[in-house]
Amino acid sequence: MDLFNLEGKVAIVTGCSSKKGIGYAVAEGLAEAGADIAGVARSDLSEIKKAVESKTGQKFLGIQADLMEEKNLDKIIEAALAEYGRIDILVNNAGIIRRDPILEFSAADWDAVMTVNLRNLFLLTQKTANYFVENEIKGKVINTASMLSYQGGKFVPSYTASKHAVAGITKSFCNELAAKGINVNAIAPGYIATNNTAPLREDEERNAGILSRIPAGRWGQNDDLKGAAIFLASKASDYVHGSIVPVDGGWLSS
Ligand code: NAP
Repeated sequence: MDLFNLEGKVAIVTGCSSKKGIGYAVAEGLAEAGADIAGVARSDLSEIKKAVESKTGQKFLGIQADLMEEKNLDKIIEAALAEYGRIDILVNNAGIIRRDPILEFSAADWDAVMTVNLRNLFLLTQKTANYFVENEIKGKVINTASMLSYQGGKFVPSYTASKHAVAGITKSFCNELAAKGINVNAIAPGYIATNNTAPLREDEERNAGILSRIPAGRWGQNDDLKGAAIFLASKASDYVHGSIVPVDGGWLSS
């Protein structure tokens, strides 16, 4: 399966500190396919470092950095380059959500979500893409969209706006970078059982409503995202540009 082999590749994966989280599984998956990982989060990354290194034999560099702060973006790239000497893959997975009725939604909750999910995702992608171009690397960028890249959702206006925009700028980057051999795509996870969605599962009515619409009949688990991530990070997706790939148990079809 050479098409999916990531040996010799280096991937930055943002937001991989939480064991049930999508970034944790994606980092593990890319390492299982042979990549060394530079993982980013605010909190301690020693658990995932141990898991990746013991399960896969690949290297894991933990970079503790707050993606709310623009000044940290260069540091992330510099730390990955200092450790590994190259970067081939950027997975923009870190994301936050703030819930409140739209009539009361605060400017602070708007700004925080837009900064992490969109503004600094854009800037980190731009910086990494410049590195790819300058070094003639046919790099891969994987953004994290959402079902709320398609739908409005309820009580999460800044999240919905940010995820619609993530789908949009994925296509914008594609249009300018595909000819340089750089693939920019996104994964749109469906309803995945992580910390981010815990309040939905705790609400019996919302939980039942969500489950009844998922043709697969279950919430997704973080491991369900590994396959799409390996595909979009590997040679197998060399002619896939600007796609938003749903991994949603069929949600968008129902
Ligand atoms: P999660 O379990 O809450 O994990 C979020 C990750 O992002 C954590 O590792 C967190 O680490 C990191 N993070 C948050 N704010 C950060 C910041 N300011 N700086 C650096 N790292 C930060 O969430 P998840 O459900 O796995 O979500 C991952 C991505 O998938 C997000 O973009 C989310 O919008 C998207 N998504 C999730 C679902 C779902 O159903 N779960 C569906 C669609 C899309 P620290 O707290 O340690 O910083």
